[in-house]
Amino acid sequence: MPVGGLVSWRRAIEYVNQIPTDETTAEIRVRTHNPWARGMSFEQMRHEVAHELGHVLGLDDSRRLGAVMSPLDLRRPVGKVGDDELEALHRLRDLAAEVRREALEYAMRV
Ligand SMILES: [Zn+2]
Repeated sequence: MPVGGLVSWRRAIEYVNQIPTDETTAEIRVRTHNPWARGMSFEQMRHEVAHELGHVLGLDDSRRLGAVMSPLDLRRPVGKVGDDELEALHRLRDLAAEVRREALEYAMRV
């Protein structure tokens, strides 16, 4: 199955003056033409960019129709992040904040 895009990303955490700092870099590649050599529409590319950004932020692929994290259906690109996907992002944000707090507490002890 041809892919609409891909992402490679890297997250590094290092301690600077005992303070954990993180840096995330990502390179997102998106198809500009579909498998039949026709140009991808803005909506199709937007779906793909949102999908790949979702991966960078920690979301997995989904099989739910109408989800940004589902594979791109060229006939029905998704233009809005779903409530379940937003909830997952909020949980990941809260978890990341908790990990950061624990890392800071650890850094203070050593
Ligand atoms: Zn994916």
